[in-house]
Amino acid sequence: MDFLDKKIEAYALNHSSPESDVLKELNRETNAKVLYPRMLSGHLQGKFLEMISWMIRPKRVLEIGTYTGYSAICMAGGMPKDGVLDTIDINEELEGFARAYIQKAGEEDRIIQHTGDAAEVLNNLEGPYDLIFIDADKESYTKYLDLVWSKLRIGGFVIADNVLWSGKVLEEGSKRDKDTQALIKFNKYVQDRGDIDNILLPIRDGLMIIRKK
Ligand code: SAH
Ligand code: CA
Repeated sequence: MDFLDKKIEAYALNHSSPESDVLKELNRETNAKVLYPRMLSGHLQGKFLEMISWMIRPKRVLEIGTYTGYSAICMAGGMPKDGVLDTIDINEELEGFARAYIQKAGEEDRIIQHTGDAAEVLNNLEGPYDLIFIDADKESYTKYLDLVWSKLRIGGFVIADNVLWSGKVLEEGSKRDKDTQALIKFNKYVQDRGDIDNILLPIRDGLMIIRKK
């Protein structure tokens, strides 16, 4: 879900640099051929991630949840020349699709795809990372944050997507499904930890931006 008024969103899009041809095609082909195309970040959020990456200029980025590669390509766009992005997804069927677009975007040397359950793959990835994007299995968000924490440099950032879960985080206890419960727990966990500086941005489906103190 999108929390922005449609007209405001259109205006914002019309006053943001346009989506590249490769990202446009990736967006279109994902919508035409892949299940759950709503999971793709889309232009406004993708451009936001790219801009954040330009601001941080991260040498090492980690992404949990590649899907068709849209957000990975966006974040890679803002990395310095020698930057490398590791991205993990459990769905092997999407691996080739994402790879084709990573190649079209000219990022095949800088984006490394890892296929498997994120919790397992993370055992084989060493830090320190400058920027980590968490965007897979919502029930595992708190676990993912714990698993990546020692791999994040001090002063580094974690961005967690979909933390408003279409507004369901406001639902009463009895109506909450498992994902909603998990995201409420994650948001509270982040808020209560002393070693985290955080802001929940109500962009698109809610982005939790975390800085390691
Ligand atoms: N970041 C992408 C969207 C990711 S959608 C974008 O913004 O365009 C979420 C992805 O998480 C899906 O592709 C799904 O296969 C993956 N996923 C779900 N559970 C996972 C797990 N346990 N380990 C790794 N990836 C997982
Ligand atoms: Ca997402």
